[in-house]
Amino acid sequence: MQLQVKTVLNRVHPLKSFVYGDVRLAGAGSRQCIEATIIHRANAKGRCSRCLRPCPGYDHLPTRRFEFVALWAIAVFLVYAPRPVECPEHGVVVEHMPWSDGKSPMTIALMCFLADWAKRLSWWETAKRFGSSWDKVRIAVQWVVHWGLEHRNLDGVDSLGIDEIAFSKGHNYMTVVYDISPNAKRLLWLGENRTKATIKQFFTWFGVAHCRSLRFVCSDMWNPYLDVVRDFCPNAINILDRFHIVKKLKEAVDATRRAEATDLRRKGDKVTLHKTRWCLLKKTANLFYGQAVRLQQLLKLNLRTTRAYLMAEDFDEHFWAYKSPAWAGKFLDAWCTRTMRSRIESMKKVAKTLRKHRNLILNYFRARKLLSNGIVEGMNNKLKLVTRKSYGFRSAETLKIALYHTLGDLPTPPQPHRFV
Ligand SMILES: [Zn+2]
Repeated sequence: MQLQVKTVLNRVHPLKSFVYGDVRLAGAGSRQCIEATIIHRANAKGRCSRCLRPCPGYDHLPTRRFEFVALWAIAVFLVYAPRPVECPEHGVVVEHMPWSDGKSPMTIALMCFLADWAKRLSWWETAKRFGSSWDKVRIAVQWVVHWGLEHRNLDGVDSLGIDEIAFSKGHNYMTVVYDISPNAKRLLWLGENRTKATIKQFFTWFGVAHCRSLRFVCSDMWNPYLDVVRDFCPNAINILDRFHIVKKLKEAVDATRRAEATDLRRKGDKVTLHKTRWCLLKKTANLFYGQAVRLQQLLKLNLRTTRAYLMAEDFDEHFWAYKSPAWAGKFLDAWCTRTMRSRIESMKKVAKTLRKHRNLILNYFRARKLLSNGIVEGMNNKLKLVTRKSYGFRSAETLKIALYHTLGDLPTPPQPHRFV
């Protein structure tokens, strides 16, 4: 028996209530394509595209072409003339076509195919590689993401991480919520801005029942967040996570360096703190040789910056190593007292904040056996990577789609065949 394209189509993309008719090579040159006609089975009634109920149909509408996954780099189109049907509930509507979402000129199979590649390649590369366009890839990813968001399961979410990201060169912010329950690591929700209203919006969407089953919420030391978390999640322990505390310490060291550099410059010293930002902010293990040498030189000098750096190092090195909240609390108190005497304003500010949130910070030790501390930071890094890669995304909406797509761990529509 000769192999026919129709046989392959029936294998990779079987249709219920429809059959493949004529399959032919159409067009010429670079525009050559395979056209596969679809016809409905003789006795199969059309289904309402909104409720899928079989309904009496009418004559055919004009023929439509639906782009399918290319075969040997030749574009494939499914060709069908849909019927209008009369649904008792929805009136006269176009019949349901299981290969299409009803709107896009791409088949669901093609959208899933492109979206799958768009996880590994950039949207531009995906478009180029598969003879598509950036816009088509966007539509495909958007459709798959919407499907995934509608079909994902939110039961069993017991721990959340709340964070924020800056985008469009730091002019705008998004609030980000991660699911960091055991065995889960996914982006759960994105909301524009980083206000109390944004985070309220999240909890309202998440729903009372899900909020009640939360055990841990990791967040920044930002009062409006803390209030909302307390209101919405009566059973959850709010943890101020390591990532955000370390960030605060680093910011304070950097502010000290900046202020002192200005002072020194005014006195004519342009050398001492010149180009020292990164050797003070990076983890020691990540310093280049030159930076490490520079840091060693700096540490020998009696500067406010050096003292601030050592205070921050002291905190980061010792605090997290404690096992009991009581001992960690003692260290915290002693550190804050020392820092308050330091006369370094930025560091004093951090000490005040840490004192104020002492209890929530110590929650880290109460929950540490259940929550791995690197999750929020890890997710934040991945998110930044996508945001940076996506300079082509002009709108916040598109950025959201890209983030859900790569980090949302969303379910995908079931497909009879995997083309990738
Ligand atoms: Zn209907």
